Amino acid sequence: MRRGAEEILRRLEAAYPEVRGTALRWKTPLDLLVATILSAQTTDARVNEVTEALFRRYRTVEDYAEAPRGELEEAVRSLGFYRQKARFIQEACRVIVEEHGGEVPRSMEGLTKLRGVARKTANIVLQNAYGIVEGIAVDTHVMRLSKRLGLTEERYRDKIERDLMESLPREKWFMFSNLLIEHGRRVCDAKKPDCAGCVLKDLCPSAFTFPHNKR
Ligand code: SF4
Repeated sequence: MRRGAEEILRRLEAAYPEVRGTALRWKTPLDLLVATILSAQTTDARVNEVTEALFRRYRTVEDYAEAPRGELEEAVRSLGFYRQKARFIQEACRVIVEEHGGEVPRSMEGLTKLRGVARKTANIVLQNAYGIVEGIAVDTHVMRLSKRLGLTEERYRDKIERDLMESLPREKWFMFSNLLIEHGRRVCDAKKPDCAGCVLKDLCPSAFTFPHNKR
């Protein structure tokens, strides 16, 4: 176990007791799969604005699989990369219909075979929708914070995930990812982290090393 990861987790749990899982809004595993695919290169808040109407209109995998592509693109257009996202959602749903009896797969292997679904998305769906923990969801916040905090020196998500998994016991993986994301949103900003206001500043090798707050 990497020194410091347990303490980081303990402090973030104390700082954000309200965090229970993903900030994406969803009711069914399908909603969550779609929302997570849509969340690439945008914020969860923006995705939640779009999915409110989307989930009223598309309720089953067949709804997505059979929709005219242009109609689906229009429905997610404001999120950027909308053509690719609509294609991924539709192709994933077609495979779910054809190979999984219409049910979102409950395994890492089944999920990562779907178009547009890598380990990050699969981890989010498995953990939040099914309570299955196979890894740690590494999004842009988790990448940035785990490097700043000295928990990894790797550049690629899969290797960062492996380092984080070695840092903490399995029962902590789900919350660790969610708490790092929350801390990244609120305090450890990509460009201007608020090190002075950070509960981790005495543990963090990157504290006060940024142009705006160098000591
Ligand atoms: S001390 Fe600064 S760089 Fe380190 S985690 Fe906190 S905000 Fe981020």
